[in-house]
Amino acid sequence: GREAAKAKGSAPATTRDGLTVAVMGNIGTPAEALRVLEYGAEGVGLFRTEFLFLDRDQAPDEEEQMAAYVAAATAMQGRPVIIRTLDVGGDKPIRYLDAPPEANPFLGERGVRFCMARPALFRTQLRAVWRAASVADIRIMYPMVSDAGELAEVLAFAARVREDLVGEGFAIADRMMTGIMIEVPSAAVVADRLAGLCDFFSIGTNDLTQYVMACDRGNAAVAGRCDSLNPAVLRLIAMTCDAARAAGIPVCLCGELAGDSRAAPLLLGLGLTELSMGGPAIAAVKEAIRSVDMAQCRALARAALNAGSPEAVRELLRGPRPA
Ligand code: PEP
Ligand code: MG
Repeated sequence: GREAAKAKGSAPATTRDGLTVAVMGNIGTPAEALRVLEYGAEGVGLFRTEFLFLDRDQAPDEEEQMAAYVAAATAMQGRPVIIRTLDVGGDKPIRYLDAPPEANPFLGERGVRFCMARPALFRTQLRAVWRAASVADIRIMYPMVSDAGELAEVLAFAARVREDLVGEGFAIADRMMTGIMIEVPSAAVVADRLAGLCDFFSIGTNDLTQYVMACDRGNAAVAGRCDSLNPAVLRLIAMTCDAARAAGIPVCLCGELAGDSRAAPLLLGLGLTELSMGGPAIAAVKEAIRSVDMAQCRALARAALNAGSPEAVRELLRGPRPA
């Protein structure tokens, strides 16, 4: 029952040979932090802040945002909370933000591109995150980063926001753990360059899959091709994990694939050390991690990277696993 699931959820997820994987929760509101904690989340790996901006007539101000971020951290009782900066544009329009219609919104001004083009909006959010990160274990993560030049601009912008706050007399931390989503294929390709510029990666397989497969997930005619288990997607995940390991930074996966317990051994074999998902998936994913060892996981990953189709990868996941 539910209580047993919660008990299984709260214990750590350690493979038979002793690798402990951090299993985190995805949230959209501070209230959801409490829910994922009950399911056994060891932190919040993805706080989708766009929910704070929806269904209202103006953007939340600095104080309101700061209160929401601190509330999520308080609910998590000292566990880390990763705040993802506003990811609107594309399919997530907000009426009070000036966002002219685009012919190809998913290839347009989304995520950090949208925010960098609207400095007042971005500055308010960054001020709130800096202030919250100075009183709790809050980390920041930027969505839709596509290359090192863009990341450098974003980091410079965030550094100026910090200097302004310090100039105004706020007690602001010297630095904030800073990560990026790897969800634009170009970012996965140059992950080795990006790894030198930030503290962690989080792979967004929902967008990474639709961009690398050139398939709109919402379009029924091609949605079937939009499969995160396609070996092309898995190779980009592997490249990202290899780059992160070489640079000595952690790498999480926070797309839907993270919540698929059958895929967990494959994801470990590809090199992920953290997974972030909706609360209800946590217990089953932790159980799947506890049942395998890394030699099995690596053999599975090698086979999957060389498989010919997502169906062939699914067949591998059904096992029998290589001994
Ligand atoms: C993703 O793209 O995988 C992701 C986690 O972000 P979102 O679903 O919010 O775009
Ligand atoms: Mg995304």
